Amino acid sequence: MNDNEICAFLKEEETARLDVLWSHADAVRKKEVGNDVHLRGLLEISSYCVRQCKYCGLRAPNREAVRYRMTQDEILQAVGEIVDAGYGTVVLQAGEDPALTKEWVAGLVKRIKADTGLAVTLSLGEMEDDKLKLWRDAGADRYLLRFETSDTDLYRRIHPPKQGKTLSERVAILKKLYELGYETGSGVMVGIPGQTYASLARDIALFRELGLHMIGVGPFLPHPATPLGKDAVSAGKEQVPATDVMVYKVLALTRLLCPRTNIPATTALSTVNRTDGRKLGLLRGANVIMPNFTPLKYRKAYDIYPDKACSSETGIQSDRNVRELIVTLGRTVGRGRGDSPAFMQTSDERS
Ligand code: SAH
Repeated sequence: MNDNEICAFLKEEETARLDVLWSHADAVRKKEVGNDVHLRGLLEISSYCVRQCKYCGLRAPNREAVRYRMTQDEILQAVGEIVDAGYGTVVLQAGEDPALTKEWVAGLVKRIKADTGLAVTLSLGEMEDDKLKLWRDAGADRYLLRFETSDTDLYRRIHPPKQGKTLSERVAILKKLYELGYETGSGVMVGIPGQTYASLARDIALFRELGLHMIGVGPFLPHPATPLGKDAVSAGKEQVPATDVMVYKVLALTRLLCPRTNIPATTALSTVNRTDGRKLGLLRGANVIMPNFTPLKYRKAYDIYPDKACSSETGIQSDRNVRELIVTLGRTVGRGRGDSPAFMQTSDERS
């Protein structure tokens, strides 16, 4: 599929043709990654952030934001709950927080790896090569860093630079992650003000060109305490809407172009469609869910966008609901680490 064909699907509105897209994506999902839905325990370990991303409620200039940082003992306790729930992976996510020093994170990863058999995924923002290397050496398995949009102008408008950082630098970090042997994940937001259909089609083509192992996409959700939540400039009739249906299209097309990658049905998707977002995500290409195990007392403060789905549910409660959904869909809960088949393939080719 070339960019124009991807773009045509993004604009498709005819139910019959969309049904073909959904069923094709579901068939490819089943053939390439099977019926297992892999569960990841998510921990949002710090809401401090030095960046000024124009969409995110954690941005440094947001004075109303409540800031917290979990201690290593709190994190280890929550990791224990994730192990007890039978999961194979913990995801540690945070704003770009300078207090999460190179040594602190390395020590944390070592403790988790020593105490549990979990795969560790980090999602701590744009980090320097030496940190990424040290954390990989400490045992970190995976890293998530969304490039958010492949449109360089739009990228620049929504990411005020830290030391002149640009889109090409985020892509360079992704390449570094591969080189260091991380299972590498990226993704975009769908419906960013100013995002055109053509640029979203390019995003999906770039997923394939980068050979990503994990791809997360969710709708843009306006946060009132951010510039993009207040006075956003739309791309007119070429503007991508931030709807659940548009996200399903991106999930389905991503599955077709990157058949063996791990794709989550994200919390942001459940937030735009609380009743069916997760279910339809799983039926239209996704094979991963990330229940939130952050202690409830910190949940509201990890306020990247408002009214997040499941924000008053403990990890264990989410886990119960997710398992029920998986069974209802005739799928199975994945066991073990649930490494990305796309990653296993590239590491086989390397050795
Ligand atoms: N500091 C880390 C984690 C950021 S939060 C990093 O930069 O990688 C994880 C993801 O949440 C972001 O990559 C972004 O795609 C998404 N996000 C942030 N603000 C959002 C908003 N207002 N609406 C939808 N998604 C948002």
